[in-house]
This record gives sequence, C-alpha cells and structure tokens, in this order.
Amino acid sequence: MSLPAAATPRTVLVLGGSLLGACTAWALRRRGHRVQLLDPGGNGGGSWAALGVLMGQVFHRSSGRGWRLRQRSLALWRDWIPELEGRGRRIPHRTGLLLLAADAMEEARLRRLAEERQARGIPLDLWEPQRLGALAPALPAPARLGLFSPLDGQLDPAAAITAFRADGRTAGVEAVEDRAVALEPLAAAGWRVERAAGDPLEADWLVVAAGIEALSLLEPLGFHQPLEPVLGQALELELPAPAEAWPGVVAWRGCNLIPRPDLTGGRRLWLGATLEPGFQPNPAPLAALRHLHGDAPSWLSRACVLRQWQGLRPRPVGRPAPLLELLAPGLLLATGHYRNGVLLAPASAEWVVEQVERA
Ligand SMILES: Cc1cc2nc3c(=O)[nH]c(=O)nc-3n(C[C@H](O)[C@H](O)[C@H](O)COP(=O)(O)OP(=O)(O)OC[C@H]3O[C@@H](n4cnc5c(N)ncnc54)[C@H](O)[C@@H]3O)c2cc1C
Repeated sequence: MSLPAAATPRTVLVLGGSLLGACTAWALRRRGHRVQLLDPGGNGGGSWAALGVLMGQVFHRSSGRGWRLRQRSLALWRDWIPELEGRGRRIPHRTGLLLLAADAMEEARLRRLAEERQARGIPLDLWEPQRLGALAPALPAPARLGLFSPLDGQLDPAAAITAFRADGRTAGVEAVEDRAVALEPLAAAGWRVERAAGDPLEADWLVVAAGIEALSLLEPLGFHQPLEPVLGQALELELPAPAEAWPGVVAWRGCNLIPRPDLTGGRRLWLGATLEPGFQPNPAPLAALRHLHGDAPSWLSRACVLRQWQGLRPRPVGRPAPLLELLAPGLLLATGHYRNGVLLAPASAEWVVEQVERA
C-alpha cells in the first residue's frame, strides 16, 4: 500500500470491524495514521449478510448529502477495487443494474428519472418491453419497462470485508479481537476504551462503527442516537440454467435478483432481501421473496434453495441515513447506513479521514 502521508499522523481506534469499520481502518492507514481495529471477531455484523447491490445513480433524489455520498462512494469503489485487486485481494464485482417497473406509477417514475439524469449527463437507458422480453432467463412477466444503469452494480460484501481487513493488516492496522464495553474521554485529549477481556486501549480519535450496537456504547455518555434494527433475509438459489445474458442485477418490486456466475457451477443467484422491523425473522416475508410476491417466472420457482441467511440493518429513527457525526472532540460516529452500507462504505470512510485530518 503506498501511503500518501497525512500532515499529522494520529492514533485512531476503530470500534467494529465489519464493512464500515474495516474500510475506515484501511482508509486511515492508507493516509499514514496509526490504527487499531477492535472487533470481537466472527462474522456477526449485518455486512456479512448484505447482497452488495450498489444503487448510486437510480437514487430518487439528485441533490443533497445522500446523493453526494452515493456519487462519491461509487467513484471510490471504482478506484479502490482495482487498487486492492492489484495487491492480490479478490472482490467479485460487476457493473449494471436493471430496475423494472411493475405498474403504471413506477413506469412513469422511471421515465422521469431517466429524463432527469440524462439531462445531467448520467447514462440511464430505458428498456422497452420488447427488449426486456428478449432477455433469458425470462424476467417477471408483468414488467412494463426497465431502467438500465451501467454505472451501478454489485460486489461481494464478505470478500470486500476480508480484503480491507487483510490489506489493512499488511499495511500496519493492528487488529484487536475483543469487545468494547465502555468509552471514556481522557482528561487532556483522546479516548480510553474498556474491553471485555484485555487491557484498556487509548487513542487520539475513536470511531464508533459498531452497527446497531453503537447505541449501547454511546448511551452511557449521554448520546442518544436513535437507531432501530431492520432484519433482512436472503437466499442463494441454484438455477436450472445460468442467468448470463442479464445485464447485471435485476430489481423487481423491491427484490434484488443477483446472478453469481462466479460461484461454483456458474448457475447461482442471490435473491433478497426482506425488510422486517426488529430482531426476529418471520417466515412470511421470506416466502413472499422466494416467489417474488407471486410474479416468479417458472425457472425461478424451479430453482433449488441452497442457502438462506439473515442480518440486521441499523436504521436511524427520524433522521436520514447514514449517521456520520462528530459527537465530541475526538469521537466520531459512523453507522446507521440502513440499506446502503455497502454502497456508502468508501465515502463514509473518507468522511472519517477528513474529520481526523481537519483537527
Ligand atoms: C440482508 C441484507 C442485505 C443488504 N443488502 C445491501 C445491499 O445490497 N447494498 C448495500 O449497500 N447495503 C446492504 N445492506 C446494508 C448493509 O449491510 C449495512 O448498511 C451495513 O452492513 C452496515 O455495516 P456496519 O459495518 O455499520 O455494521 P455491521 O456490519 O453490523 O457491523 C458492526 C460490527 O461491529 C462489531 N461490534 C459490535 N459491538 C461491538 C463492540 N462493543 N465492540 C467492538 N465491536 C463491536 C460487530 O462485531 C460487527 O463486526 C444489507 C443488509 C442486510 C442485512
């Protein structure tokens, strides 16, 4: 890793080593900061359950913080994936996303979106029913229109976490396998973190990237960050034939169909994800997902379920996602990414780096 050094290297302790934490630790180290990454280990975070869909260009708004973060993150993924792969890290990814309209209202919305983005030079193409009908395997029959975005796409989140962790470690990020139990400001400056097992850790900066568990760490300090869990379930299917001719991810009535020709046998497809408030999975939304709310083409109904999994998304209550905040001198919050933590990880990591270097 070449390190364009920051003017003043800081010590930074990142709490949470899932996608947000691992990516942030990597980005900080890349600038020459001394970084520790504290995580209990395993693959318990929501990031491991994510589908990795990158929906940047088809976002309903085209201004404001959410839009800027999405644009920046897509650009950073485009730079960082080749950088990591150049050092032998593997992140399966592909570009292309086809958003389908199920009814007249969605069709009108997609037409407006295409017009507005094309006027800004953003390449979004409308695909009329004839073109959709030529795709194999067949799309859900009621599809009235498609909006194709060549710059959006998908990547494998577990591979991305593994790549950031491994590349970070090689570059000098110190991984500490433990759980933070209490945070405390130091008298002069900086923060001290009590751990479940080992000795406390101290740093100039503390970055709380612990997903939904950020709440319990911050509340004793008087920070009431309103976050609620939204559970998601997803499936890996084996198809009767590969979905190679699709131009990328297909999104239908809130369900993402993600061909994974790179996985064993070349006929795998990820299907997800349900949106279920709370911590407990419910069989009904999973059954609706499995059959695409009754619109599943026959090849999809015949596919064999190989794997099912679930994870939690941290959703801010009454606030827009994500929560990127300087809570106190030296204390940063980077969580609450809800449905777009994979998309927004690089721009969030960059925001953390800017805060640390601005001080
Ligand atoms: C089914 C599903 C599908 C999704 N699909 C997409 C998608 O297609 N595209 C997209 O962009 N996003 C998607 N998301 C959302 C995305 O996964 C989340 O926004 C993102 O993963 C949140 O990442 P995070 O690192 O903040 O939290 P998490 O991944 O939950 O990680 C939190 C980490 O903090 C650690 N931790 C917790 N407590 C402590 C502590 N006390 N001390 C130290 N460490 C601690 C945990 O071990 C964990 O590693 C999906 C989510 C789900 C569940």
